[in-house]
Amino acid sequence: MSEEPGKVFLVGAGPGEPELITVRGRQLIETADAVVYDALANSALLPPRARETGRPELYYVGKRGGAKNPVTQEEINQLVVKLAREGKRVVRLKGGDPFVFGRGSEEAQALNDASVPFEVVPGITAGIAAAAYAGIPVTHRGLSTSVTFVTGHEDPAKPHTQTNWASLAKSGGTLVLYMGVKTLPSIVKALLDAGMPSEIPVAAIQWGTQPRQRTITATLETIAAKAAKENLAAPAIIVIGWSVVLRDELNWFEHRPLFGRRIVVTRATQQAQALSTKLREAGADVIEMPSTQIARLDLAPLREAIGDLSRFNWLVLTSQNAVAIFWEQLLGEGRDARALAGLKIAAVGPATTGALLEHGIAVDVIPTRFVAEGLLETMRERDDVRGSRVLYVTAEGSRDVLPNGLLEIGAELTVVEAYRSIADGRGAERLARAIESGKVDLATFTSGSSVRGYVDAVGEDLAQRIPAASIGPQTSDALREAGIEVKVEAAEATIDSLVSAVLSAF
Ligand code: SAH
Repeated sequence: MSEEPGKVFLVGAGPGEPELITVRGRQLIETADAVVYDALANSALLPPRARETGRPELYYVGKRGGAKNPVTQEEINQLVVKLAREGKRVVRLKGGDPFVFGRGSEEAQALNDASVPFEVVPGITAGIAAAAYAGIPVTHRGLSTSVTFVTGHEDPAKPHTQTNWASLAKSGGTLVLYMGVKTLPSIVKALLDAGMPSEIPVAAIQWGTQPRQRTITATLETIAAKAAKENLAAPAIIVIGWSVVLRDELNWFEHRPLFGRRIVVTRATQQAQALSTKLREAGADVIEMPSTQIARLDLAPLREAIGDLSRFNWLVLTSQNAVAIFWEQLLGEGRDARALAGLKIAAVGPATTGALLEHGIAVDVIPTRFVAEGLLETMRERDDVRGSRVLYVTAEGSRDVLPNGLLEIGAELTVVEAYRSIADGRGAERLARAIESGKVDLATFTSGSSVRGYVDAVGEDLAQRIPAASIGPQTSDALREAGIEVKVEAAEATIDSLVSAVLSAF
């Protein structure tokens, strides 16, 4: 055990949107030894490399999602006390505000009982934030002079409810209901029975402040049926009161032009940062593409082929990466462009062609359609492929279309797999799953290499399912080469122009 006594910080994570945490909360997460977090605390708030490095230690204690063995409150209390007694600075991260229906106060009691020092860092509670993001002020001069936070856990249909629903019905102010989806029908009935006007407007806000926010509006009389019909589910805040009418004027969040759109931003460069920020401000749910790296495979076979280049009639290159690696090995073997003098050269499309041109090499064959099939068609029409010797430099695991086609034409083929792209596995998988489930509307590209990285990360098939917004003609060429539809192209090669193009796409 460490000499330093530990300490626990009960931190409110805010309502969901990660930037709605307090400055103090964020600083404490950055310096924590351990973070114990709930389902409703956005995992984007966790330090990015914590999972790989184990610093800070992460403990998920969420109770949501019908887990088979949900962590009990007692176990959470024990865990937090234990970590603090090991001398750790522990952040106990809870959705919204830790002292609003979050059982944070019970955890504080347990800490006090165990003589563990603690601090409380308030957070923005969902009841205020989800309402605000739905364009609803919880108070408004002339419409509502009080607001009451109520838990829906206290089902009025059950005997001995602790909540005085009849007096709430008469409060005249706004009622904000937490955890009330299941009990909504019986709560509505209790309020109506107690004389609350049936025409009072009601809004139910699911996943408030998040890109997937959804709002259902009705009156006290109709809300229960409408919520059921539209499959309202937790987490949702239900706001009952006259100020809900202001949503007609104040619904800023859901009216942003890209609200409800899921857009991929490729490449983690500074440019991409600026692009993500602008798209998010326009309301998009941005998925940033996981970073990829190129890993060179055993290049002895490539060097061997380079040593014997005059043996070949054709050199076929399938990507900019293949060009880069081929060139680096060529120079490494003490040779240069002159070694290619006797070879005919084919590339799948303009991006690869451009990379070759940078080395002073103009290709002999560019297909009309920028995919492997297109190159094959063009090669088939020639009379100098049959019986020729082809050196084919490509990535590990790329499609077999081209090599098989060349063999069919009657070429003698030497395939060199020069590299493998290693993606950030988790990130790539998350992106692939989003595409698979049909939840991605558009992907943005700012360079040919970002196209390559994207295709490497999610695979050709999935990449081809999502239309693209391109920053300019060269990037568009690279997209078409990869078989991806170019839906819009920026008028100028700037981020602002790309954002305008994205806006025009919808
Ligand atoms: N301490 C939290 C509340 C925890 S109780 C806070 O201050 O916000 C959990 C309930 O909070 C959910 O059932 C739901 O009613 C509400 N809630 C939390 N996050 C929400 C969100 N993003 N949108 C809508 N409701 C939310």
